[in-house]
Amino acid sequence: MTLPLSTVDLHAHSTASDGSLSPIAVVDAAADAGVTCFALSDHDTVAGLDAAARQARSRGIRLLPAVELSVTWQRKGLHLVGLDIDPASTPLRAGLDSQQQRRQQRAEAIAAKLERIGIADAFDKVGAMADGGQITRTHFARLLVAEGICKNLKQAFERYLGPGKGAYVGVEWAGLEEAVGWIRAAGGRAVLAHPLHYKLSAAWRERVMNAFKEAGGVAVEVSCGNSSAAEVQLSAIEAQRHGLMGSIGSDFHSPEQRWLGLGRLHPLPATVIPVWSAAGLA
Ligand code: AMP
Ligand code: MN
Ligand code: MN
Ligand code: MN
Repeated sequence: MTLPLSTVDLHAHSTASDGSLSPIAVVDAAADAGVTCFALSDHDTVAGLDAAARQARSRGIRLLPAVELSVTWQRKGLHLVGLDIDPASTPLRAGLDSQQQRRQQRAEAIAAKLERIGIADAFDKVGAMADGGQITRTHFARLLVAEGICKNLKQAFERYLGPGKGAYVGVEWAGLEEAVGWIRAAGGRAVLAHPLHYKLSAAWRERVMNAFKEAGGVAVEVSCGNSSAAEVQLSAIEAQRHGLMGSIGSDFHSPEQRWLGLGRLHPLPATVIPVWSAAGLA
């Protein structure tokens, strides 16, 4: 089933982190798909935003500067999308520097583990793939596929890169309050990304949303690129119960993910206030 087109898509990646399209190409792909209000939200970096903004202007679409931050809360990993941020904000920049150092150190540790299982020069290889962008586990998954060790990215996470697997390396990312603080200091709005992707029980999601709201978060990503209609309804109810607004975003990484397209999203249920209209963004 093809999902309807949403002209709003507030979560996507480029080669600045683990997307496969350049910032310019991903803006082109969004505009070609019919998206008119778009956010580029790379993992722990704003490096793609200048080029994306220029391309969005030339294509006549709205580009909200954004970033996806990795957070550790109660020993769990969460992702926040900071929407409509000032990429030049000093506290945000300092926060991103610290996140990037953690990424770099973890990448070295993952590479060492992969070298022990016979992949030579793993660090140099992922560095070449990332080509100056942030190194993510997606790059290591691509390496495992390229080396013929795994048949696809999913298998690479299941067998090597997921929690508890042989090449997994835990990271203590920024704290929840800390990361929301950077987003707010940059004039942005903090959105709890893909709330159903963390494999948390309903009781833990409840705790996460309470803590997120307490920290100054304002919205939940209610509709994601691979959400079912039932998941959208569930997240809408949970957002509303916590007095949080709603966001929608595909989490697009690559045209190779054929099941997921830019702007191909279930609409936000009418019971939830759209974070983009509340903020006068679209
Ligand atoms: P990192 O932030 O470096 O830990 O990498 C996390 C990224 O890995 C996520 O943003 C996804 O893009 C990707 N990822 C996580 N789990 C999977 C999976 N099971 N299959 C494919 N990609 C995944
Ligand atoms: Mn990713
Ligand atoms: Mn994420
Ligand atoms: Mn993402």
